[in-house]
Amino acid sequence: MEPGRGLPVAARCRIPCGVRTVRPYLLWFAAAVLLTFALVRAAEWLRAHPQHNPYARFELAHPQGWATHRKLTALVRDDAACFAAFDRAGARYERRPVVGEGVCRASQRMIVAQGGRLPVLSPAAAAPGCAVTAALLLWDRDIVQPLARRHFGQRVARLDNLGSYNCRRIAGQGAQSEHSTANAIDISAFILADGTRVSLLDHWSDTGAKGAFLRDVRDRSCGLFGTLLSPDYNAAHADHFHIDMAVRTAGWTVCR
Ligand SMILES: [Zn+2]
Repeated sequence: MEPGRGLPVAARCRIPCGVRTVRPYLLWFAAAVLLTFALVRAAEWLRAHPQHNPYARFELAHPQGWATHRKLTALVRDDAACFAAFDRAGARYERRPVVGEGVCRASQRMIVAQGGRLPVLSPAAAAPGCAVTAALLLWDRDIVQPLARRHFGQRVARLDNLGSYNCRRIAGQGAQSEHSTANAIDISAFILADGTRVSLLDHWSDTGAKGAFLRDVRDRSCGLFGTLLSPDYNAAHADHFHIDMAVRTAGWTVCR
């Protein structure tokens, strides 16, 4: 006969049998409480930091966060949502007529009013698409202007560009360029408030502040745009930053 067989249950247990039975449930209960607490805190944190929440509506006023690039690329295919973001921000802009057809249809072209949220784009008629304009706005606010203040002690007043809409294939490749839908712009120079010109062609390799500024702008911009190509990429980009909001699988970005 086994020891304890035939004795009352309480007498057979070295530790109280009730405790031995309940302990796993206590652990699961504690884990569930902790998980619920963590989820509630995470939800509260995301509500307070919508720039990190991929399901929160894009707002131009939000700082950049983990979800910013994803939200910007979503605007490429949603004209109404993109222009609504500018409307909610009270931005003054002119929407340009749709041009082209098929792979060359550009429906988001816009010109942000002078004195608005962007430095003057020159020529203004470039009229890049809404999504890339939204990205330019964040770029200017969070990267270009802080770096201009750091390197030159003044702001950038004008962005010279080589154009946006241009229905063509990428040079040397079969793929259609993002310029085909005005989802790109080529920035050639930054004009400071005192009129100083900092150009990609003349100052990319400059050993002073101008070169440092341009290279800092390129390095800090990685991840914001779908693509940023600098003079380091190839000779075709010796005189400009190519910037676009290309939509790629899994949100990959290119920064060269
Ligand atoms: Zn380009």
